[in-house]
Amino acid sequence: MSIRVLIVDDQAPFRDVARTVVELTDGFEVVGEVETGEDSVTSARDLRPDLVLMDVNLPGISGLDATRQILAGVENAKPVVVLVLSTYEADEYGPRAVEAGAAGFISKSDFSPDRLAEAWASATSV
Ligand SMILES: [Mg+2]
Repeated sequence: MSIRVLIVDDQAPFRDVARTVVELTDGFEVVGEVETGEDSVTSARDLRPDLVLMDVNLPGISGLDATRQILAGVENAKPVVVLVLSTYEADEYGPRAVEAGAAGFISKSDFSPDRLAEAWASATSV
């Protein structure tokens, strides 16, 4: 069974990069792509992904607010891991992402199959 991934980013070029990285990572598959935080909340509920790759800077609600809403909506359902991806520096956004409930933060420039597999492993280790 693959780990099912929802990609959230308002920029098509980065969604393409994210999709490629996910497809190149063993055991992961893309189940959806959305452009806004609002749509991510709906899709997380409808598609029940295992992992959400969440941009920070989105039109409408921010990726951090969307993260809070997604995690609030799954309390009694299947757990979901949110990883925040941004062009911003990890120093600035890492703590804010974790405060919003995200399992981690990855700089977009560092995003790769290895980084994804490593972030998933650390998010799901007990
Ligand atoms: Mg963006």
